[in-house]
Order: sequence, then C-alpha cells, then structure tokens
Amino acid sequence: TGAVGLDRAAFRDLEGSFRGRLVRPGDPSYRQDRRVWNGSVDRFPALIAHCAGVADVVAVLRFVRRTGLELAVRSGGHSFPGHSVCDDGVVADLSPMKGIRVDPEARTVRVQAGVLLGEMDRETQRFGLAVPSGVVTHTGVAGLTLGGGIGWLMRKYGLTVDQLLSVDLVTADGGLVTAGATRNEELFWGLRGGGGNFGIATEFEFRLHPVGPVVLAGPVVWPMAESARVMHFYRDWIEQVPDGMTTAVIHRRLLPSPDLPRELHGRPVVMVVCCWAGEVDEGERVVRPLRDFGPPLLDLCAPRPFVEHQAMLDPSFPHGHWYYFRSCNVHRLGDRVIDITAAHAPRSASPLTSFPVFHLGGAVARVGAEETAFDGRDAGHTFSLNATCATERGFAQERQWARTFWTALEPFETGVYVNFLMDEGEDRVREAYGTRKYLRLRALKEHYDPGNLFHLNQNVVPGRH
Ligand code: FAD
Repeated sequence: TGAVGLDRAAFRDLEGSFRGRLVRPGDPSYRQDRRVWNGSVDRFPALIAHCAGVADVVAVLRFVRRTGLELAVRSGGHSFPGHSVCDDGVVADLSPMKGIRVDPEARTVRVQAGVLLGEMDRETQRFGLAVPSGVVTHTGVAGLTLGGGIGWLMRKYGLTVDQLLSVDLVTADGGLVTAGATRNEELFWGLRGGGGNFGIATEFEFRLHPVGPVVLAGPVVWPMAESARVMHFYRDWIEQVPDGMTTAVIHRRLLPSPDLPRELHGRPVVMVVCCWAGEVDEGERVVRPLRDFGPPLLDLCAPRPFVEHQAMLDPSFPHGHWYYFRSCNVHRLGDRVIDITAAHAPRSASPLTSFPVFHLGGAVARVGAEETAFDGRDAGHTFSLNATCATERGFAQERQWARTFWTALEPFETGVYVNFLMDEGEDRVREAYGTRKYLRLRALKEHYDPGNLFHLNQNVVPGRH
C-alpha cells in the first residue's frame, strides 16, 4: 500500500525545486526509508521527503497543504509510538540536515534537526563540552529536545530544554520564525516541552557545559533477587548524593557480551548506573557507600570517556526490535513502590526487556515549574517500562507485563514525561503537562496551528479553553 495517487501537478511542482530526495512506493530505498526505530510500527507513506534544508521543509508543507495529505515529521525516528511515519501520507524526514557548529569561546552549539545525540557529542566533546541530552546515542536531538530531554547530566546541568537559547521553526503557513528568550517568548516557552505541535524545528542553539572528557560512570550490579534491598539502600543513599551525581536503577537480564563472564549471560540483575561528571576522586568518595553496600556481582563504575558512557545502553535498544512502553513519574521510592517494582521485575519473560527508573531533582528541580512547558520538575523518579522483543514473537505477553506493572504503579503516579508516552489519548497528554500548562499550550497551538496540521505527535488540541 502507500501507493495512493499523488496529485500529479502538486508533485511536479515539488519535484521541480526540491534539493533533497523524494521517495515513493516502488523506489529502491522505500522499504528501508519507511521504517522507524520501533519495529512494531509498520506503515506505508505515499511520500517520504528527505529534506536538505529549510526551503525543502517549506516546500513539503506547501505540498501537504495543497494535497490535504496527512503529515508526519521525522528527525531521529525514535518516537515510541511511531509518530514519525504514517499510512498514505507524507513523511517530512529531516535526517539529512546534519549541520553542527560549535563555538567553544561562547560555549554554544548550533545543531540542525537531523542530528543524533552521538553526533552532537562527537563535535562538542572535541572541546571538552557537552549539551546534557539522553542516554542512547542514536536518538534524535530534535524530538528529544522538544519534549524535554532527560539524561546522564541532568542533575548537574538540567534538562536538554534548559540549555536552549533559540529554535528556528517552520510554521504551518510556511513561515520561518526564531524563538528565544527575547523573541517570540511564548512560542519559546511552548517549544521547551510542547513537542512537535507548533511547527517543524529546523535548527537548535544550545548552551554548552564543560564535561569530561573523562567521567566516573557505569553500573554497579547485584542479582535481581536483591532488588528490594538494593532499592531501599538506594533510596537513602540518593538523599545524600550531591547534584553532580545522576543515577538510574535498571532491572534487566544481562546481555551476552564478550566482556562478561559466560555464567553471567542472561542473568537477571538490578543495577545502579552512575554518572559523575566532576572530579574523579570526589566522585569515588560519593560512590563508595554504593560499592560497599553488600558485595556487588559486578562493579563497572569506573573513570571512562563521557562518550563511552553515553553509548553504554545502545546495544539494549537496537533499531527494528519490537518495543512497547508504559511510563510514570513517582514522588519517591516508597516501600510500596519498591515492593511493586521488586515483584514485577522478574515476571518479564523476554531476555531483552529492561526498565530504567531515572532519578530526577538537582538542576532539573531548580528551574521554576512555570518557566517551561515541560512539567514534572518536582518528580523524584521517572519509570520507563520498556517491553522489548526481537520480533512479534512473545510481544503480546511482554506488552501485557508492562501494562500490568504500570497499573500496579498507577496509584503512586504523579505525572508522566511526554516523550515516554505511547498513543494514550488526550487525557494522558494533559496529565503530562498538568491542566494549567495544557490550556496555555492549547492557546499557543490555536495561534500557530489552528488547523492541527501537526497532529501526529502527543497532540495538543488547538482551542482557547
Ligand atoms: P522522531 O520519531 O523523529 O520524532 C518524534 C516526534 O517528535 C515526531 O513525531 C514529531 O512530533 C516530533 N519531532 C521530531 N522532529 C521534529 C522537528 N524537527 N520539528 C518538530 N517536531 C519534531 N528521551 C529522553 O528524554 N531521554 C532519554 O534518555 C531517552 N532515551 C531514549 C532512547 C531510545 C532508544 C528511544 C527510542 C527514545 C528515547 N527517549 C529519551 C525518548 C525520545 O526523547 C523521544 O522518543 C523523541 O521523540 C525522539 O526524537 P527523534 O527525533 O529521534 O524521534
């Protein structure tokens, strides 16, 4: 499918001036180009427009308005529910837009929308600098930033949106606007968490921070049977750790790896993954209680290049696996939350499933709640239950595991991170922002996209109330 007839005249006009690549069903790269990261998403667009620059983005929007076709926007292609591809519509694919320009003196970087996290780190780390971003290097800067951006530097330096200086945005009517602290301020507020609702972001300007190049980072690992004991210890330990330390608790089976003794391959474990982006000796003192608490199965927390740590989780999230997610924020790891987590973790049947519980606070919580559209700065922890299978086989069962687990956590939920939502309906989007911010976002949406052209996203429905 995907072969719906395109309006010939409109397509000819688009083709006539397009600088990037236009791919349609039947073209040699179509099979590959229609795929997104989540292998359970299998859609057949009528056109994939690989945009080479802003003019191409404007041209695709004109084409979409003229033909009435549905529009999906893709940068890194990592949307959990696969919002970046659609059936019978148009995919505006920004992945060719790879420009990165570091200004080490001013400590800023300009990044085009097609850049992936690892590509940005590659350029900025050359100068011992970094933008706090996410934990898997092949995620797109664009989608991650527009939702908030949590990762290994967040307690020290804040979310990805907290580093934003400006965003270039092509709006529904084809105009190009720049939003920043003193230009289009309300739009700038909305872009810092409001996702792809207001237009197509083509370029981001971020503030940089000194990071590494060596950080003290990695997991300390115990058998999963120790889960409750580890989390009780962890809960008290994080009360005292300085903001320079960002951690997550991950439950999983260890992936077979030549770096691990054979008897540990597939072993169910609980791990505390640390990232201390400061002076290593000081970090060692902070981590010591964790190392000393009960003998770990493995202690892989060590000085290492920041970019190596950034790539640590890459093998756990390859392109093409089948993924299903449930997520929630909780205020703290209370006894019941710990009991529920320890009970549900071993019930997952797939050896590929893992689930991080990120510790927020620190610099995330120091930014005022109303300063950005991103909500949940006072959340203590974010659960991301990632049901994962290599193929469709076992997927329904694994998905059910995530749903059941999430239902048990629901009474403790204080909110949810918008980038960790599946297709869960308008109420969940509202929960991600809280009602007051959601209404403010609706008004902004009404201003910039009253026709809801950009609706394949965590959709904010345009309106005044
Ligand atoms: P895409 O699928 O290309 O885009 C997702 C959506 O964002 C699109 O549907 C569109 O609505 C919008 N969008 C994308 N590009 C643009 C643009 N240029 N202009 C306007 N709208 C746009 N999040 C974190 O915060 N921290 C993490 O550590 C983290 N780790 C992750 C690891 C993996 C393996 C995955 C799959 C996701 C992870 N996420 C994380 C979630 C991630 O932030 C979202 O999935 C995000 O949307 C991915 O952005 P993308 O550009 O890769 O995705």
